[in-house]
Amino acid sequence: MFTHKNSEALQKEAEDVILGGVNSPSRSYKAVGGGAPVVMDRADGAYFYDVDGNRYIDFLSAYGPIITGHAHPRIHEAIVEQSSRGILYGTPTKLEIDFANKIRQAMPALEKIRFVNSGTEAVMTTIRVARAYTNRNKIIKFEGCYHGHSDLVLVAAGSGPAQLGSPDSAGVPEGVAQDMITVPFNDIDSLKEAIAHFGDEVAAVMVEPIVGNFGIVEPFEGFLEEINEIAHANGSLVIYDEVITAFRFMYGGAQDLLGVYPDLTAMGKIIGGGTPIGAYGGRQDIMESVAPLGPAYQAGTMAGNPLSMAAGLACLEVLEKPDVYTELDRLGKKLEDGINALIEKYGVQANTSRLVGALTIFFTTEKVTNYQAAEDTDGEMFAKFFRGLISRGVNIAPSKYEAWFLTTAHTDEDIEDTLAVVEDVFKNDF
Ligand code: PMP
Repeated sequence: MFTHKNSEALQKEAEDVILGGVNSPSRSYKAVGGGAPVVMDRADGAYFYDVDGNRYIDFLSAYGPIITGHAHPRIHEAIVEQSSRGILYGTPTKLEIDFANKIRQAMPALEKIRFVNSGTEAVMTTIRVARAYTNRNKIIKFEGCYHGHSDLVLVAAGSGPAQLGSPDSAGVPEGVAQDMITVPFNDIDSLKEAIAHFGDEVAAVMVEPIVGNFGIVEPFEGFLEEINEIAHANGSLVIYDEVITAFRFMYGGAQDLLGVYPDLTAMGKIIGGGTPIGAYGGRQDIMESVAPLGPAYQAGTMAGNPLSMAAGLACLEVLEKPDVYTELDRLGKKLEDGINALIEKYGVQANTSRLVGALTIFFTTEKVTNYQAAEDTDGEMFAKFFRGLISRGVNIAPSKYEAWFLTTAHTDEDIEDTLAVVEDVFKNDF
């Protein structure tokens, strides 16, 4: 069992100067019983090394971006090379064009693209563009889908589809929340009701086409097609939040995998190769609402910065190689099959959900198809599982709502070692 003395000491120091000791609340261990989060010192390939000298097999993958493993030589090289040529210009560069073309080749529904610096910014801007284009204010989202921390999307579900949202965070004015309507994922009738109720006030319906924020949850057959039909019949746009899903399951977006296309798409994470990035894009006529061509304003000192462009290009060059996703799928299946065999062997009340290299273990015997079901899973059992893993050298997100993300750096041996750890946890801690 690992000890974490140095992590604990550093966390005390951190709490003295960094609010709550973390720069993003999901990094704290609050959801798994508290205590100091492990402080990492360095990362290489599939591994993390903490400040106490412990090694972990990493499946957090920085909440998704690190799909090629840490410190991938090709991305490292691109960053070093670019930093010698300057990392921020504030002028147009050829790199931006090359990168935008590369993304559009893989995701043709993004007829026009803009780069920003985070998923939050990308989503926030698609909402502004949709509002500008439709001249309407309200947005419909799905319960449990996370779309960053801008005001409007930090709104919880009302108690019914015809109910307006209330803020999920202090500091978000009620007036802002009034423009967000939340309905359950995979529930087309609730969407129909909401559209019938709010009609021509609805600018857009926004969705994670494959959910990554209450575990990996796929849409029911036909669900996304129906969203398109219902929204478009109402004169509303469809926005896909592909911050997690773009380049996650294939060389392209979830929209390309499923063959259903939105009007606007927000992206982030993987496309930056680990550097800060966001991007949004979509139909040309809609995108032309954005300055300097149109009246909707979006800007950024760091937007399209050469460092992120170079890292992102290098990342996509790695991902476009043949067999990358078949290999992620093969290893993902091996991990999932192994975990399911252990669930069975030790009689653990759990089941898994996986698509290619993204996996969730839900501590319930029910199949999870919406947020309510994910919320109803056993948080205490998850906390025990998480603590068992982290004290034996497997790092995952400290939340029952997050996925495990495999990378191209994981090997068969890493999966076998991970399964041995899971077995040890089920056998001794459950
Ligand atoms: N949308 C989705 C689907 C996300 O998962 C996230 C982040 N987890 C965001 C938006 C926000 O992205 P960022 O943290 O880069 O602002």
